[in-house]
Amino acid sequence: MKRQHTTLLVIGGGPGGYVAAIRAGQLGIPTVLVEGDRLGGTCLNIGCIPSKALIHAADEFEKARHWAQGSALGIRVQQPAIDVAQTVRWKDGIVSRLTGGVDALLKKAGVQVLRGWATLRDGKTVEVQPSAPAQGQGAEPRVITCEHLLLATGSVPVPLPSMPFGSAGGAVISSTEALSPATLPRRLVVVGAGYIGLELGMAYRKLGADVAVIEATGRVLPGYDEELTRPVLATLKRLGVVLHLNCSVEGLTEDGSAVRVRSTMADEFVLPADRVLVAVGRRPRTEGFGLEGLLLDMSGRAIKVDEQCRTSMRNVWAIGDLTGEPMLAHRAMAQGELVAEVIAGHKRRFAPMAMPAVCFTDPEVVVVGLDPAEAERRGLDCLHAHFPLAGNGRAMSLESTEGFIRVVARRDQHLIVGWQAVGRGVSELAAAFSQSIEMGATLEDIAGTIHAHPTLGEAVQEAALRALGRAVHV
Ligand code: FAD
Ligand code: NAD
Repeated sequence: MKRQHTTLLVIGGGPGGYVAAIRAGQLGIPTVLVEGDRLGGTCLNIGCIPSKALIHAADEFEKARHWAQGSALGIRVQQPAIDVAQTVRWKDGIVSRLTGGVDALLKKAGVQVLRGWATLRDGKTVEVQPSAPAQGQGAEPRVITCEHLLLATGSVPVPLPSMPFGSAGGAVISSTEALSPATLPRRLVVVGAGYIGLELGMAYRKLGADVAVIEATGRVLPGYDEELTRPVLATLKRLGVVLHLNCSVEGLTEDGSAVRVRSTMADEFVLPADRVLVAVGRRPRTEGFGLEGLLLDMSGRAIKVDEQCRTSMRNVWAIGDLTGEPMLAHRAMAQGELVAEVIAGHKRRFAPMAMPAVCFTDPEVVVVGLDPAEAERRGLDCLHAHFPLAGNGRAMSLESTEGFIRVVARRDQHLIVGWQAVGRGVSELAAAFSQSIEMGATLEDIAGTIHAHPTLGEAVQEAALRALGRAVHV
């Protein structure tokens, strides 16, 4: 068996692992990255990017269908049709460009990429079983020893025991299959009204499927505050997505053509389905590569790490979804960069003031920092104000006046501790929200900054002005 030694060995080429490897390469650290599937991980191949591509295609199709009925803008089109196989090819093209770009960036940074499955022998030794031998890699398994081992193996979708993925002849699917449909189902049942269930459930509805959503709790997007989710609920109703809240899934009917559902009222009913998307969460990928042998401290199913992403074993690091919630690509990337810099001797710790989260529903939802309830729970005396997008000229010209922007700030020094927004296009405001919190901005800073007209950003300024009691446009 071929043997090799390196300073840093990264397992997993998702946004956590590939960013860590590129940064380590830039810092002159000899680095090997092992990826068992495709560079870019969940995010680029079967997560963030393909889902946003599909959502965009669905939005465009819905727009065309809407125009076919006549529109206030004066645009008229014939009844549109969609070739979903072409949509998937277009989405795959975006994915290939991005994953190819990651490959090139790793090469440029001098990182050695091995395609294969890694199995841990101990905290310094890993065996790699090549999958598709890359140029010059060979097909022979190899053992790599390292000074630093970085675990970035990501996460996997949580299955429902009563309805495993692939059952009913492949009709029960995860987000992975939902992102590459060969055909569109006539009736889609979605289990889980969280991020994936609503982002993809809405997209499928806009593409023409009848969609029913089953959710265990009493409302959609239960992780977000209720006021923020109200406009999303309104769109679900407008689109005709049927919601079954406070319900649990019992399994499939015997012939596999319908989902058996039980409501908390104890009655059972069936929902006919051609396809069932199970989106009840993801869990860290901790199995199948010998992790248990390291006996690392765990936090539930996730690997426990400190502020520098160190695990309980010296020189073994972990980042991204493997370390638990929030399972977001930008968190994984930030942790990856940090680990490379710490190994290079920089003084860094992972202590962001706020972690932005965006749900790409219609309309989009953004949260950064604390909402009013969370601020109160933490004992902070805060004031908050919101500005409705109905008062924003840009939102009107985009036909997107649903929603609002809310700011939360400490009452004493007006330090901003949180932003929440719901509305079409508000995902692009996440950068402004995060920057203001990281830079310690006060309400006066935002109120006194000139925001370009006409943009949605003016609503950010108006929210701050309103918190100060001097909003102009409301
Ligand atoms: P991953 O991206 O999961 O990468 C891990 C990699 O490790 C994989 O490529 C895997 O093949 C490899 N691997 C695992 N074990 C081994 C082994 N033993 N040997 C070799 N290789 C191995 N997040 C956002 O921030 N915004 C979004 O809009 C968003 N949308 C999403 C939509 C969907 C449908 C899904 C499923 C997720 C979405 N996410 C989103 C979450 C985001 O994709 C993850 O948080 C992110 O990919 C985590 O990065 P990671 O590097 O930790 O792991
Ligand atoms: P989620 O945690 O967002 O939502 C799961 C939903 O399923 C919850 O509402 C939960 O109450 C419900 N649920 C759980 N068990 C159930 C059951 N047995 N029956 C009915 N409902 C049930 O999980 P997800 O949508 O699968 O997404 C997984 C993760 O992927 C997210 O937590 C997030 O970290 C990441 N993601 C992020 C984005 C984004 O940033 N825009 C998009 C997609 C996914």
